[in-house]
Amino acid sequence: MFGLALMAGLGPIAAAQEPTPRGRIALSFDDAPRGPGPLYSGTERAEVLLASLRAVNAPPVVFFVKTEGLDTEEGRSRIRAYADAGHLIANHTNSHPWLSRTDADAYIAEIDLAETRLDGLPNRRPWFRFPYLDQGTPLEKRDAVRAALTERGLRNGYVTVDDYDWYIESLWQAAVRSGRQVDQAALGAAYVEIILGAVDFYDAQALTALGRSPAHVILLHENDLAAEFIDELIVALRAAGWTLISPDEAYADSIAAIEPETLMTRQGQVGALAVQAGIEPATLTHRAIEEAQIEAFLEERHVFSSPDH
Ligand SMILES: [Zn+2]
Repeated sequence: MFGLALMAGLGPIAAAQEPTPRGRIALSFDDAPRGPGPLYSGTERAEVLLASLRAVNAPPVVFFVKTEGLDTEEGRSRIRAYADAGHLIANHTNSHPWLSRTDADAYIAEIDLAETRLDGLPNRRPWFRFPYLDQGTPLEKRDAVRAALTERGLRNGYVTVDDYDWYIESLWQAAVRSGRQVDQAALGAAYVEIILGAVDFYDAQALTALGRSPAHVILLHENDLAAEFIDELIVALRAAGWTLISPDEAYADSIAAIEPETLMTRQGQVGALAVQAGIEPATLTHRAIEEAQIEAFLEERHVFSSPDH
């Protein structure tokens, strides 16, 4: 839903000016089809999310599918609805294992099973997103899976912007379950601010590590936050100077060809390249990937309140 406060906050002068261009950015949604959320069933979520994307003329986005969700007719029709609407569909394994905790052979079998189960859907792309962004340790295992992807013509569906939108969603879910009231406008504003902060953070890292702003890919999840607030997020990104692009365009960036040597991959491609450029991993932190900071921020914004307060 549109945040009127957000639009009003731009004011007549700012609204008349074009923002300073910042770069290009694509959206990706992991773990589809996810279970029911604090607000919607899966079917309802897909309808709202698709309508929200249409309402702001979003370019195609990509859904990385955890294919065990295709066990149900509801899951299958939801993924089909995303694909039929022109969005892109790619592989996120069948059951979402950690590569570091799984044998290479078993992991590769998960990738193959997911590819098979996605067969026949329109708008498929040969991209694979590592669950938890875990590209594996030790090196031999990482390299075995990289080789298997290459053999299959699959490419790493990396992110450049990491954030814990799933944690915001889990706090929302917990608040609803414990009977707290939710200020939807405040929740949407906090979500947008956290994600925009993550975009700024990783873009700054990229400027340091690469000397340029790459085509970005934001990590989001197919959750109720996305359904409810993706239009606000897109409006805010555009107001900040970002051009929304298709993941096809984003993965055409030359950073897609780089296979980072570092094992520190869990903050995505820009995080890995920053570490490789000599940035101390401990300094590679920001609010959007700190659970305690997210929780404190939502409290500070009075997103949740108890009825007797
Ligand atoms: Zn995932």
